[in-house]
Amino acid sequence: MKYKVLIMRCDKYDPEKIAGIVKEGMKALSVKPSGRILLKPNVVIAHPEIFPHAFTRKEFLDGVISATKAVAEDVTEIAVGERSGITIPTRYNFKNAGYPEVIKKHGIKAHYFDEVKQVPVRLKRKERLRDTVFVPEPVAQADFLINLPKFKGHPWCRLTLSLKNFIGIQDDRHRLVDHNSFLEHKIADLQEVIQPKFIAIDAITAGQKMMLTPTPFDMGAIVMGTNSCAVDTVCCHMVHVNPKDLIHLRYTSERGFGPMNLDEIDVSGDFPLVEVQEKTRNFQFCMEHIEKYFGKESNLRCKVGSFPEAHSDDYCWGGCPGSLQEAMHIFRAFYPDVEKTMGKILYVVGRVEGPLDLGEGEKVIFAGDCTSWKGKIDGKDVNIESSYKTTREVDERKTRSNDMLLKTAQTLSKCLRNGSSRYIHVKGCPISVADHVNYLSAAAKIKNVNFDPSLLIPVNIAYWQMRANRILNRFIG
Ligand code: SF4
Repeated sequence: MKYKVLIMRCDKYDPEKIAGIVKEGMKALSVKPSGRILLKPNVVIAHPEIFPHAFTRKEFLDGVISATKAVAEDVTEIAVGERSGITIPTRYNFKNAGYPEVIKKHGIKAHYFDEVKQVPVRLKRKERLRDTVFVPEPVAQADFLINLPKFKGHPWCRLTLSLKNFIGIQDDRHRLVDHNSFLEHKIADLQEVIQPKFIAIDAITAGQKMMLTPTPFDMGAIVMGTNSCAVDTVCCHMVHVNPKDLIHLRYTSERGFGPMNLDEIDVSGDFPLVEVQEKTRNFQFCMEHIEKYFGKESNLRCKVGSFPEAHSDDYCWGGCPGSLQEAMHIFRAFYPDVEKTMGKILYVVGRVEGPLDLGEGEKVIFAGDCTSWKGKIDGKDVNIESSYKTTREVDERKTRSNDMLLKTAQTLSKCLRNGSSRYIHVKGCPISVADHVNYLSAAAKIKNVNFDPSLLIPVNIAYWQMRANRILNRFIG
């Protein structure tokens, strides 16, 4: 039996139109949601002006909820759940995305995964990276998961679609575990926790290159299916990507979760694949090594060494380099000329040997646990040692909280203590995008966007609401 994937035309964010298309899709795919129904959109970050194309749009969510309500049977609960990008309270991003009004309109629940209990799930497949992963209780209890990704390019993974959207089912304490050169293995592990029974991808306005600050692309499509591998395979072909190059798709398919070959998929709908491909001939990606990514005009220079894991010793796609790119794109959104106006920075990552050839006033950020270097800076001996831990050495039950205020306080105090030193060694595996923003701000004297008044107050209000609800849920649970 072939898995069916539908590509449907949809040229605008009209909830009624989307509801009609999705209802039709559910019927064609024989989908009947029931029990505890959990909708998982992609709201990694949301802001109407700064991050307008990073998230599954509210009109899309609205349309899918209407279709779900029309088709579902024996419903126990319908809820929307997500954990936004690291440290930012999910409720802040939901508000920016306009979700609360949609959730209220439909009388359904919101599960902020950073506020609920996290439970362990044992993994059994022989290819697994870990024996146990932690997920929010509503995910572990869901009978029918509906995955609602945003179709976007991704600087770590090439594309974020159905499989990659599951990174958002983990809270901050567990999300960064293995978010390094094992990111693709981690994505495959998460499929074993739960697989969506229906997938609808918001590809009406797709995103190119970055995941937080994507360049919009008018794709005019909704992609639907019941198997993540099949859906992601079709989406790869929609933008001229060989599915084998989407490494997490390859790993997941090899574990038996679904096909990655078009011959094994029945592609239909009213938007023929060849027509989509014609439209997306210039769809852009950002899969560049950071050494080349920041041009000669930029005050940011990167030196990339070798990395500890044999399967990816030339680059760490899932970790610090991609975080640096995302952080710089956030700065660009606030200050378009930032790379010319910032102080000079040399970003060193991995095991690097030989002189750094520092320019006048150039500061060095040694980034990440795996980074090592030995040499002289301003005539003084400097020895940066690796503290990288292998997967087996990292215990997922004893991870740090990655709490927003704590992390910000730690990074800022480290920057203060570091004072006027020419270099700083930033620890973490990976270093998050938020931490990159803090360290770059301090070292390169860029105004810290985390303290922009338009973000500071609402983010902090949402943070304290999140903390209060987390305590409340602990008592209720
Ligand atoms: S420290 Fe950063 S670059 Fe090094 S392995 Fe970890 S995530 Fe990758």
